[in-house]
Amino acid sequence: MTTGLWLTMWITHFLSQLLLALGAEALNFPYESSQLTQQDVGNFSAISFGNPLSVPSVYQGPKCKVQPEDTTWPSEKQWAQLNATLDGNLLKPHPLGAACYPDRPEYNMDTCAYLLGPATTTRLFFGDPLNALTTWGEGATCLQLLNTTGRTCTQGGFPVYVVNATSVRDMQAAVNFARNQNLRLVIKNTGHDFIAKSTGRGALSVWTHFLKGIEFLSDYSIGEYKGAAARISAGMEAWEAHNAMVNAGNITVVTSLESTVGNGGGWALGGGHGPLTSLRGLGADQVLSLNIITADGRFLTADANQNQDLFFALRGGGGATFGIVTSMIVKAWPGQTRIGGLTFYLTTGTGQMTIPSARGYPSSPPVHIADAETFWKAYRVYLGFAKQIVDAGGFGFGDVNPQGNSTYVLVGTITLPDYPSERIRDFYTPLFSSLSEIGVNVPNPRHTFLPYAQAGIGVTPISFPGSPADRLFVSRLLPRSLWANGSRLDAVAAVNRQNAEMGYRVTARIYGPSAEAAGYPGNTTSAVNPAMRNMVIHCVTFKQEPVDILPPAEFRAEHAKLRARINELVRLTPDSGTYFNEADILEPEWRTSFWGEHYPRLLKIKKAVDPWGLFWAPKTVGSEEWEVVTADGLPTQNGPLCRTGT
Ligand SMILES: Cc1cc2nc3c(=O)[nH]c(=O)nc-3n(C[C@H](O)[C@H](O)[C@H](O)COP(=O)(O)OP(=O)(O)OC[C@H]3O[C@@H](n4cnc5c(N)ncnc54)[C@H](O)[C@@H]3O)c2cc1C
Repeated sequence: MTTGLWLTMWITHFLSQLLLALGAEALNFPYESSQLTQQDVGNFSAISFGNPLSVPSVYQGPKCKVQPEDTTWPSEKQWAQLNATLDGNLLKPHPLGAACYPDRPEYNMDTCAYLLGPATTTRLFFGDPLNALTTWGEGATCLQLLNTTGRTCTQGGFPVYVVNATSVRDMQAAVNFARNQNLRLVIKNTGHDFIAKSTGRGALSVWTHFLKGIEFLSDYSIGEYKGAAARISAGMEAWEAHNAMVNAGNITVVTSLESTVGNGGGWALGGGHGPLTSLRGLGADQVLSLNIITADGRFLTADANQNQDLFFALRGGGGATFGIVTSMIVKAWPGQTRIGGLTFYLTTGTGQMTIPSARGYPSSPPVHIADAETFWKAYRVYLGFAKQIVDAGGFGFGDVNPQGNSTYVLVGTITLPDYPSERIRDFYTPLFSSLSEIGVNVPNPRHTFLPYAQAGIGVTPISFPGSPADRLFVSRLLPRSLWANGSRLDAVAAVNRQNAEMGYRVTARIYGPSAEAAGYPGNTTSAVNPAMRNMVIHCVTFKQEPVDILPPAEFRAEHAKLRARINELVRLTPDSGTYFNEADILEPEWRTSFWGEHYPRLLKIKKAVDPWGLFWAPKTVGSEEWEVVTADGLPTQNGPLCRTGT
């Protein structure tokens, strides 16, 4: 770490302590005013603060983070002392799925059946300290299954201890304990991660889920920004922000599409798209200031005036990398944004069909196209229209759902925030005229307007069930240049068709967080992937069938097959990349794919603020220095975290 950066961080820390001592309102939420002091540390050296300057420039620590079976694992006495420091907030949970295994003390078939049925539409999984929504990424070590014959339930890739964070003090103690004891540390908020970044074998987990709060600030200025803002807590989910907007009446905060994603956590730190992205930018573009606990255990603010390197890195550089963000101040937009939107369905094939939900927008009855070639021509027409959606500040879906037996359903959704109501029909009519020209007549397309906080996403937390999911997932950003060259877009459409014909679900999230939409400070400097500034579609391809039950060789084969398909899109878009928060666990060239030219600067900042390599998750900045060594060689979190020698 450079002496200059280190000194700046210390000065900031002392100033905030001084303001606190003077009674000034230097900090945000009440949970942030309780901080770890030298007095709290006392004789318990396991929670003493770190000094980045004392870390040798060449790593000299143990090869691996300590595991429960190692002799260097902290003693029961030390864990008990940590728990006492945390006022009893240290949990030692077992995986929920244990209820399905007869040899486990938690065995209870009623509970198991409940987990597999009614619980999937409740908040139960979000209220669990371990649950990660991606089961294969954890290592599939305790699957919830009615028939568990031949399977076991172990702690596997789940953490051993969890700090149910109630204050900054709790989290500082956890950070110091993990660093001093050479433990793997993970941060979990909602557990919404496609590659299970918020879990890890033998880890101590900091669970930010119950740090809840949102507060609107009518007049906030920093740097070049002057206007309304909102403080949001680390544990805030999109639906909670929507409820707060409804209650406040006349204000809008940019949020994710899915209502249970953690907007104060991984979503904004890694980018964060949503229905307002083409108009207002990404979640990361909203951020004006953040509070964070860094790897030395200190509590800092990063914004345009202080800790500017961290401020750059935390807006798009990813969660789980630079520290634990405890809250952030984001832009708030005057007025309640209204979204005009519609959905249409095109189908082909003779198999049975399930029509996905229209997310609250009016939809015409599905239009069946007998000729498959015409169906795919219609798909190409819709892809061609995507740029207009982005240019109008809109957000859309173009999802092809294969249903077996050469049967497909295309769901097209167009949403336009704050678009002049008298012009909205004129906006989408040309799309339906072009479809008519190829013989696809969508009868009476019509739109409706919804207040943003209710538009297609709902204000309830159960609009997206929180049960564990299991998807192999690959993605690519489609750049604007494709729309200047019809034959290249034809080629993209052809690849997507082949992928759907192979049974993959092919989704297009249509949005474009241009520098103009981002505004200050995102348009001047941020770690957001430069490829996102120039995109029109985020193309995501899923394997629909579960992979967590597959033997390792089959998992590898399935992954290779899917990867080969997305590589076809990579070939057609060599200068693009993909979105860090929604990408393949084995993304090749991931540093440039996620961050382009920003990577060297991000790595330098990472090494400066965390020379211990304390914060680690797969495919994050600096992650190349460590790897999870799994017994089966799969890219899961079920193994010790060890140095790679890179
Ligand atoms: C079903 C589903 C729907 C999704 N929908 C969208 C969408 O609409 N738009 C979109 O952009 N993305 C979406 N995503 C991707 C999502 O943005 C990312 O997975 C994001 O990282 C989730 O953050 P989280 O805090 O909710 O989840 P978690 O899994 O708890 O955390 C994700 C990562 O962020 C880290 N992290 C969390 N909190 C903090 C913190 N306070 N400080 C530092 N690091 C932290 C974790 O350690 C982990 O590495 C979706 C994902 C899923 C599974």
